[in-house]
Amino acid sequence: MNRNVQKIEISGIRKFYNKVAKVPDAISLTLGQPDFPVPLAIREAMIQAIRAGKTEYTPNSGIIELRKELCNYLYSMDIIYSPEEVCITAGGSEGLFSVFNALLNPGDKVIVPNPSYPAYASIVNLLGGVVVECGLNKDFTLNVPELKKIIEENKPKALVLSYPSNPTGAGMTKEMRDEIYKILKDREIIVITDEIYSALNFEDKYYSIAQYQDIRDKIILVSGFSKMFSMTGLRIGYVCAVKEYMDQILKIHQYNVSCAPSIVQWGAYEGLKNCLTEVKEMRLEFIERRNYVYSRLKSMGLEMELPRGAFYIFPSIENFNMSSEVFCERLLNEGKVAIVPGNAFGSKGEGKVRISYSYGIEELTIALDRMEKWIGKLKN
Ligand code: PMP
Repeated sequence: MNRNVQKIEISGIRKFYNKVAKVPDAISLTLGQPDFPVPLAIREAMIQAIRAGKTEYTPNSGIIELRKELCNYLYSMDIIYSPEEVCITAGGSEGLFSVFNALLNPGDKVIVPNPSYPAYASIVNLLGGVVVECGLNKDFTLNVPELKKIIEENKPKALVLSYPSNPTGAGMTKEMRDEIYKILKDREIIVITDEIYSALNFEDKYYSIAQYQDIRDKIILVSGFSKMFSMTGLRIGYVCAVKEYMDQILKIHQYNVSCAPSIVQWGAYEGLKNCLTEVKEMRLEFIERRNYVYSRLKSMGLEMELPRGAFYIFPSIENFNMSSEVFCERLLNEGKVAIVPGNAFGSKGEGKVRISYSYGIEELTIALDRMEKWIGKLKN
């Protein structure tokens, strides 16, 4: 077997999710998957696409209609790409995999925030790259002075940015974007910015490093529709990059999947054209849930940051004198609620837990009531 494969592990999120299945009556707040149905117009468009026989291979980079519509959508967020600079992928996951594959030689260093979505470090390790961790501030923004130091000392090839963040819920602020820009401007480093939760940004304005046109030759944007249109199982995402990178990324994408599923591409096209109102409504619902979960956890005495996007909250459990894994195991077995230990996202996630509020208010209420009761017992 490939030694690099043997070194990496399946995601800690999945591991914990599998444990939940063994505890009858447990409520799970572990998964990152919205509970909303796929917007009706998207479903209809996919049925229509099947009926019309649109089931053949599409161009490797995806149907032109979708790429054009996506460019219009990105433009509304001040991100400018042309359809030739877009590749539609089989989910953000395939996008990330193709990008790292195209970029890395063994030994290349990649700065990965700690904690962060586990795929980044795993893919880098799989490819024989070297992960250089960068810590976060208390509010989970990137520690920019530390980033600068790391870049100077390690001369890394790439930096991963991931906002709105899984697992912390932090968002890209204007200040952070501008400070990072200043660092990147005169350095040879490529930024992979994973913005899969961009449609679930709770702030008034959206900030992305990809909004800086003058450094577009240093930026690769990875994103997707799993969260935006609540279509996680349909496997569709995208990568945007200048031609020089895209030519290489497309080779990996082609030999890996040829193209993203044709039917789903037509669905996403319909979604971008006609379902943005539903996306806005979903976002408002997530803001309400965020507020509810935040206030409930606060009243239980937990400390945490107010999430600015995505659908995760990352409270501290340090006051309980248990590791995050023991906390989650006990909450699962004794309190019948499943959440994810923070160390599933990196060593600096220790002392925290990730709660997903991509579940309905009723489920959230039951889960939080149980959690409150269990925490109450611990305190006595
Ligand atoms: N990036 C982040 C930060 C994620 O949380 C996820 C999914 N949980 C992905 C990428 C991949 O999503 P997908 O492959 O479903 O598009």
